[in-house]
Amino acid sequence: MNIHEYQAKALLKGFGMPVLDGRVVRSPDEALVAARTIGGPIVVVKAQIHAGGRGAGHFADDPGGKGGVRLARTPDDAQQAAVAMLDSTLITRQTGPAGRVVRRLYIEAGCEIARELYLSLLVDRATGRIVIVASQDGGMAIEDVAAATPERILKEAIDPATGLSDYQARNLAARLDLHGRSIRAFTTVLRAAYEAFVSLDAAIVEINPLVVTGSGDLVALDAKMSFDDNALFRHPELEELRDENEEDPREREAARHGLAYVGLDGTIGCMVNGAGLAMATMDIIKMEGEEPANFLDVGGGASRERVAAAFRIVLSDQKVRGILVNIFGGIMRCDIIAEAIVAASRETGLRVPLVVRLAGTNVERGEEILSRSGLKIIPASDLGDAARKIVAAVRAEGVA
Ligand code: GDP
Ligand code: MN
Repeated sequence: MNIHEYQAKALLKGFGMPVLDGRVVRSPDEALVAARTIGGPIVVVKAQIHAGGRGAGHFADDPGGKGGVRLARTPDDAQQAAVAMLDSTLITRQTGPAGRVVRRLYIEAGCEIARELYLSLLVDRATGRIVIVASQDGGMAIEDVAAATPERILKEAIDPATGLSDYQARNLAARLDLHGRSIRAFTTVLRAAYEAFVSLDAAIVEINPLVVTGSGDLVALDAKMSFDDNALFRHPELEELRDENEEDPREREAARHGLAYVGLDGTIGCMVNGAGLAMATMDIIKMEGEEPANFLDVGGGASRERVAAAFRIVLSDQKVRGILVNIFGGIMRCDIIAEAIVAASRETGLRVPLVVRLAGTNVERGEEILSRSGLKIIPASDLGDAARKIVAAVRAEGVA
């Protein structure tokens, strides 16, 4: 689960991260009031969307214009910036061409910037450790730094038994060319990021830029946090930070039914049981020359209702030009699957070709239910056969 910059800053502040004074607003009038309250010679008006690259982005209605991070010299300027940004679509290198509608702004105190650093913490799956990634080249996309000057990216793994040591923090501070009070400040920043990461079961904490001010203080000028969905049950307070406007509606619906679902960009919707079988199904669709529209694992012992919900999600996806159901009935019974498919198809209407391959427990009963349903279902004998049939059917419709 991702959250907004202003939410990440509030959480990190609770762990001792230095951040500037700021207010979240939803209207130009609120922006005016917030800018007055914050005061100072400059405030920054920042679009809140779940994507980075806002500063260098542009709004759909103003292609050559300013981005989603604007400096305002007066409260009136802040209000004007809010008028331009709210309810407009911001396009950045992370949003894709469709962009995201801006519904909230963060009004923040201005900051004098001497240097911009990059800092993030994430899980390195190869070593099973939290790794710190840092660079002197903050304020730009870290992917670009990694591609052009990989030697300028510093990495430091944290031993889970001992946690983050002050030695590691000081060592990194030196390699970032920090001096004097900035070294201690960096230790505070790193500790805050690490404590937040561990206590909240984060998947990533990213501060880009981490700013060094003229006086040598450090400030988290931008913050991104995302959380491990599998640990969210331990943090009910984080659930309230969810912004459904920023989420894929297909994934939201799936989560409500406890389904493992990931929306993809292809045309063939898949309903499969077991993550391994789901991967194999996606691979074989690609081998036949088409792309999957989703990854959907209904799990081992799913109920008829849950399978029907899963099938409805796939059916309702406008990108889907054909559906491949591939079920190996072990604990899951093929007749339950068949009943759920029939029920969901009747309810929603089957507007695309459907290929079903069933194997295992109660397979004969399942096949009988499907063939008696009167629905136009193409049976398949094995996975290869199923993939070939669905690709052929989609191509025959002339839309793939
Ligand atoms: P992003 O583009 O989505 O990553 O948004 P950021 O919050 O990182 O802002 C982009 C850039 O705007 C930063 O790298 C800074 O250079 C600049 N910026 C943000 N806040 C301030 C500020 O208070 N003062 C100044 N001068 N620049 C700022
Ligand atoms: Mn940033």
